[in-house]
Amino acid sequence: MIFLPLPEDVQFLLSRLENCGYASYVVGGCVRDLLRKENPADWDIATVALPWQVQACFPEVPVIATGIRFGGVTVVLPSGRYEVTTLRKDGFYTDGRRPKEITFSGNICEDLSRRDFTVNAMAYRPLDGLCDPFGGRKDLQYGILRCVGDGDVRLLEDVLRVLRCLRFSATLGFDIAEDTGQSIRRAAIRLTLLPPERVLQEWLKLLAGSFAGDVLDRFPEVCRVLLPECMPFSFVSRWKNLPADPLLRMSSLLLDQGETQQTEILTRLRYPTRTRQRILFLCRQGRSFSGGVLALRRLLSVSSVEDVRRAVLLRYCFSPEEQAVQLVFLEDILQRGDCCRLKDLALTGHDLYALGFRGPALGAVQRWLLDAVINGQLKNEREVLLTQVKSAGSLQ
Ligand code: ATP
Ligand code: MG
Repeated sequence: MIFLPLPEDVQFLLSRLENCGYASYVVGGCVRDLLRKENPADWDIATVALPWQVQACFPEVPVIATGIRFGGVTVVLPSGRYEVTTLRKDGFYTDGRRPKEITFSGNICEDLSRRDFTVNAMAYRPLDGLCDPFGGRKDLQYGILRCVGDGDVRLLEDVLRVLRCLRFSATLGFDIAEDTGQSIRRAAIRLTLLPPERVLQEWLKLLAGSFAGDVLDRFPEVCRVLLPECMPFSFVSRWKNLPADPLLRMSSLLLDQGETQQTEILTRLRYPTRTRQRILFLCRQGRSFSGGVLALRRLLSVSSVEDVRRAVLLRYCFSPEEQAVQLVFLEDILQRGDCCRLKDLALTGHDLYALGFRGPALGAVQRWLLDAVINGQLKNEREVLLTQVKSAGSLQ
């Protein structure tokens, strides 16, 4: 019998439920991760106990009825919150709408059969070991994503599974089984039916996956639905010299579009305003950044170090050598502590205020001084800057 190590909290929850007479399991993604010897991101506990029975098992801690009609409660332990769900028969409802009624089940296999992929459809009960009715462990061993049951039916039930599949393939580096892949191609057009917010959630996780380029190149049918304007696009070759960073990868995808089109696409995909602005900035720099110390300093005066680094990587994404050269320039600037921002100026806002500057005029002088320092026309020394401001004042 297979043994999986569970954290103390999870053991406590399971044994309490078991002691009250309810068969209980850890289930889904956390079992997959445990078998891969990875730390699960979250723990899902499934039990034959009904929600109110779960509540009765834990009189001493808060148990929140997160979705009591739908079989879920959250047990709040000092060290964290755990979702405990009653075994059920009906499907996942991922579009935000919930079924009026759900059907509970006393049978773990029934609960596993409504899950998306075989590697996600395993449960573990310390008393019984692994419950794996769909061959999830073998698929995990071979690195294969396969729908539980008929792919066409399962993806029609919930088309978000198309993106989940691509996301798992992108993050775990797993292959997609041939027939599941065919079902994905047939279901892709239905992605238009999903709320864009749900698509974005999965899309961002997908973009962060080390193998995202390979997966997306293999499924142009999906990309054509999500990003018709950008296709065809050769993901692997365009992303070869970029880190697995969602912001950079998205910017790279949009690089050849005009700014109006870029804004339209990002708005349609529901990128939050701030992220949209950052991507537009990266695209602009990705096309026009001239390189060199001065240009880097100027960029640092209007953007964060991380985004300047991104801009460099994007601008020279076809030349790792040039990327490296520019990144060395950037590191030198940071190491030396070159003055690139208003807050680095040796003359402060207070100084300028004391000299009689107010409001927009004060801001304009600061910016003017900063530009002069960045360009190397003035030394960033208090006396130098003071003299400069005073003499400029006397010229007026
Ligand atoms: P992650 O590492 O992102 O948490 P996960 O597999 O745990 O991956 P969750 O969204 O936490 O994903 O879902 C937990 C489990 O619930 C999944 O492993 C799967 O068994 C099931 N599940 C989640 N969403 C769906 C869905 N849309 N269709 C079918 N089963 C799903
Ligand atoms: Mg999970």
